[in-house]
Amino acid sequence: MSLSRAIAGIPERELPDFWIGTSAGLRRELGRIRRGWISTIARSPGRHRVHLVSYGDREKTGHKANFCSAIGGGDPCSYLDKAARKRPVVLLIGPVHGHETEGLTGLANLIRIMETGSDILGRKQSEIQRLGNRCRILIVPAGNPDGLARFRPASLQGMSKTDMRFWGQGAWKNGELCGWPECKRLHPMRHSRVSFMGCYFNDAGINIMHDDFFRPMAPETAAILDVARLEGPDLAVSLHSCEYAPFVIRPAFVPLEIQEKVRCLTGQYFRSLEHNGIPHGPNFFPGPERGSVPPSFNLTSALYHVSGASALTFESPHGLLKGKGAYKANFSQLLDIHLLLYEAVFRFAILEKSQKFCC
Ligand SMILES: [Zn+2]
Repeated sequence: MSLSRAIAGIPERELPDFWIGTSAGLRRELGRIRRGWISTIARSPGRHRVHLVSYGDREKTGHKANFCSAIGGGDPCSYLDKAARKRPVVLLIGPVHGHETEGLTGLANLIRIMETGSDILGRKQSEIQRLGNRCRILIVPAGNPDGLARFRPASLQGMSKTDMRFWGQGAWKNGELCGWPECKRLHPMRHSRVSFMGCYFNDAGINIMHDDFFRPMAPETAAILDVARLEGPDLAVSLHSCEYAPFVIRPAFVPLEIQEKVRCLTGQYFRSLEHNGIPHGPNFFPGPERGSVPPSFNLTSALYHVSGASALTFESPHGLLKGKGAYKANFSQLLDIHLLLYEAVFRFAILEKSQKFCC
């Protein structure tokens, strides 16, 4: 598929005001921030800013060792005494795959809720704001602004799996789709090999989810890990989207206790979706890594290993309408899937802090 054909396939429609699917839309929302603290944590290879928006003061705690060394010394508190903090810290990382704008929309609406108590639709969201006020919240609204800038449809809702593959993973020089997971077999992705660089990648061809975490190739990855390292979040969420019902991917290469915790949080979130009549995917089972090709050590794994966070990868549906087995959802349902996730995450973090957490 060519770029011109892909652009011709974008439905003629007006996206709802609450849908934030472009860099300009994000800038507009960031310009409204009064209560939160906003900073630039990196410049992408395409010279776009990567922003961090935070709510709630940072509580100072001792910091004597990096996480890996503290664990080696048998004392996680040598990295950071999380129990000494009064409020839990939650890190929410917006799409590192630029076309997965469901997460960007969700986070932009969360920012509006933290600012005003209502989402961009104008619906009161007092409970989310109340829970959010009891946490320190760190939001990276767009983890890959280069990919976002390349994404012309602003949303894949109502589009096809072929559209998703073109905008997500891109197309080779001969017009064939790069595909998933084949697009991961050339990394960095080379401009010379593709007719369209998929929104998975930043302008240097890096897929932040699969960076080299021991020597990050992308400034976006390094900045996200720096935030986690410095802040020591209790919970960290990397927001993604695909064609399926909402689900959480088992965090790989982290202790079973962390996996159990994430599974428990996922179960609570699923119950909230059910309560709201929203179907979801299956929960995962904790387990060790195995196989001649084991799961990959990805951004979510790295977040745990620099900060001890219970880290998870969330997959939202795009709301595709075309294609067998695609999960159908309209724009406001996609927003609700995200807002219910943040509510579940905040509630879980608060209960865990007060040691009232149970599964
Ligand atoms: Zn993704």
